Amino acid sequence: MADGAAGRGEARPRTGAIVVAAGLSERMAGLDKVLTPVAGRPVLLHSLLAFERCDAVDEIVIVTREELEERVNALAASAGCAKVRFVVRGGATRAESSRHGLGALSKETELVLVHDAARPLVTPELIARVAAAAAVTGAALPGVAPVSTIKEEAGGVSVRTLDRARLREAQTPQGFRRGVLSKAFAAALRDKFDGTDEASLVERTGVPVALVEGDRRNVKITVPEDLAVVEALAGGQAPPQQTRVGFGYDVHRLVEGRPLILGGVEIPHPTGLLGHSDADVLDHAVCDALLGGAALGDLGLHFPDTDPRWKDAKGSVLLARTVEILRDSGYVPVNVDATVAAQAPRLAPHRDAMVTHLATFLRLPESRVSVKFTTTERLGFEGREEGIAASAIALVGRIPLAPEVP
Ligand code: MG
Repeated sequence: MADGAAGRGEARPRTGAIVVAAGLSERMAGLDKVLTPVAGRPVLLHSLLAFERCDAVDEIVIVTREELEERVNALAASAGCAKVRFVVRGGATRAESSRHGLGALSKETELVLVHDAARPLVTPELIARVAAAAAVTGAALPGVAPVSTIKEEAGGVSVRTLDRARLREAQTPQGFRRGVLSKAFAAALRDKFDGTDEASLVERTGVPVALVEGDRRNVKITVPEDLAVVEALAGGQAPPQQTRVGFGYDVHRLVEGRPLILGGVEIPHPTGLLGHSDADVLDHAVCDALLGGAALGDLGLHFPDTDPRWKDAKGSVLLARTVEILRDSGYVPVNVDATVAAQAPRLAPHRDAMVTHLATFLRLPESRVSVKFTTTERLGFEGREEGIAASAIALVGRIPLAPEVP
C-alpha cells in the first residue's frame, strides 16, 4: 500500500490507466518510438512496467495504431503485465485516442490516469502522487517549472519575456475522476476542440486541475536524439543484459557499369559491386553478424536471391528488416564493429556517412557503430581490385522479459 492513494484501510477509488501509444512518430526519422528499444527494452514497456508496479493502479488499457496492435499485445503478454485489460485502436486526434481508451476501462473504474507512452521514465511514485491528488480534487497533473527563460514570439521577433515563476511544463500521467474526463471529452467533441493533453480539455469545462510536483527525469521522446537522453537517464537502472556475439563476412565482385555502394553511401568509382541486391557488402556483413549473434541463420536464408522482392534491395532495407527479425526473437543490437577490405578507392572520407547510415537503420547511437578500412597491400582479390570484402562483429542483447526462444 506504500504507493497507494489512501492510507490505513481507507478505500481508494478503483483506478485505471490509459497508456496512449497511438502517435505517428512523425519527428522520429522513420523509427516507431513506442517500440524502439531504449535502455534494454521497448519504450512502451518502460511505462507499462511502471503502472504494473504501482499499487495505486488496478487496470491498464493501451491505445495504439491498428498496425501495431498485434506487436503491442505480444509485448504486454510477454512482459507478464497482468493489469493490461485491453489494447484498443487510437483515433485521428489525441482526444479521440484517449476517449477510445476511456471506453475500454471497466465500468467500475472511478479514477482515470492518462499517460503518454513517449514518457518511458515515469515512476510508480509519480503515478501514485497524481492518483492521490486527483482522488481528492477531481483533476490533477504533474508539472515542472521551466528552467529556461521563455519568450513570446511574433513575426520572428521576441516580443515578451514570460514570467517563468507562473509557468509549468505539463507532464503525464494526468489524473481525473471519470465523470470529469467524460464531460471534458463530450465538450471537446461538441466544440471540435483538440488539445495536446487531457488537462487542456478539462480546464475549458471550468474544472480546476491541481498541479502536483512532476519529475525532471520524466522526459518525452519526440526526436531521435531524445532516445540518447533517455538511455543516459535510465543507464543506472537498466537491467543487466544477456549479450551474445556474432560474426559476418561478405564478398562481392567489382564490375564496370554498377554503382559502388558501401554502408549506404554511393562512392564515385569506375567500378561497382555486382549482386542481386545493391551488393552493399558492408551492410551485408553487418546483417550477417547480427543474425549470427542471435543464431538466426544468415542473409541467404532471410533474403534469398531467388525472391524478386529482394532484387536491387537496398542495404538499408535489409538492415531494418534484420533488426525486426532480431526483435521478434527477443534481441536488440548492442554494438557493431566492421572492417572493409578494398584496395581502392580511399574510403576514409566516407566513414562518418557510413556510421550514420548503419546507426540510423540499426536504431543505435553512433557511438555504438564502428567502421574501419584496410587495403590488402595489393595481395589477393581485394588487392587486384577484383572485389571488395567486409567483415563485421556484432553484440546483440536479449530484451529483458522477451519470450524465451525455444
Ligand atoms: Mg552480399
